[in-house]
Amino acid sequence: MVCIGWSDLSHRGSIICTISYLSEMKLDLLAIGAHPDDVELGCSGTLIKEIKRGKKVGIIDLTQGELGTRGTVETRYAEAADAAMIMGISVRENLKMRDGFFKNDETHQMQLVKMLRKYRPEVVIGNILEDRHPDHGRGGWLIYDSCFLSGLRQVKTYKEDGSEQEKWRPKMLLHYIQDRFYEPDIIIDISDEWEQRMESIKAYKTQFYDPASTEPQTYLSNPEFIEGLTARARLLGKRIGVRYAEGFLSKKNIGIHNLDALVLNET
Ligand SMILES: [Zn+2]
Repeated sequence: MVCIGWSDLSHRGSIICTISYLSEMKLDLLAIGAHPDDVELGCSGTLIKEIKRGKKVGIIDLTQGELGTRGTVETRYAEAADAAMIMGISVRENLKMRDGFFKNDETHQMQLVKMLRKYRPEVVIGNILEDRHPDHGRGGWLIYDSCFLSGLRQVKTYKEDGSEQEKWRPKMLLHYIQDRFYEPDIIIDISDEWEQRMESIKAYKTQFYDPASTEPQTYLSNPEFIEGLTARARLLGKRIGVRYAEGFLSKKNIGIHNLDALVLNET
């Protein structure tokens, strides 16, 4: 895994992090989250599934989650790296936008356009367009607008060496469901990935329930939060006749090549 801008983590034994701004790795799938842990909570089952199928998957965190009540920016980086290792992610970058206050404006869009052109993902999965935390909705629209702008030749961006980046528009943008429930446009069976998904979420040790922790209890650290995640995945699974599933929304219609892609059972 390449962790760009994470040189401070290079001491961690299990993780090799190199600063590699010249990396031109092409990704099949790029997952983007406003906060480190959004991606794990929203779509880690699907990411793990795609990685198991041999796809190259990366993650971009927009902020460092510095407004989080528990833990620190440092612990969050370490936890995000651990979660990425558990999932088998190829690259994870943090854009260091301001937690709680980043905007969907030209400056932030250009930051993201650069990433989309650098990694050229076929599919992007990002935050939903409206949620309990305003960063999620704002992040969702920032991702939505950036995916469009990235496909325009006249929007100019440059690599580290000064050469121009080529335009790139992902073919599909899906939005993962986080806190508020929305009727999904597509439901993906993640029953076989469930254990690994929960492991990736629990990598955020400071955020979730820990009876030994002396930090203040939060919405996330309440033991019922994890129970709620399981209930949500079971509910979505029930809809398609499998044990666990993740749901996604899309502004664009979703097409399939043939009926083999359908989950078939008697629901
Ligand atoms: Zn979040």
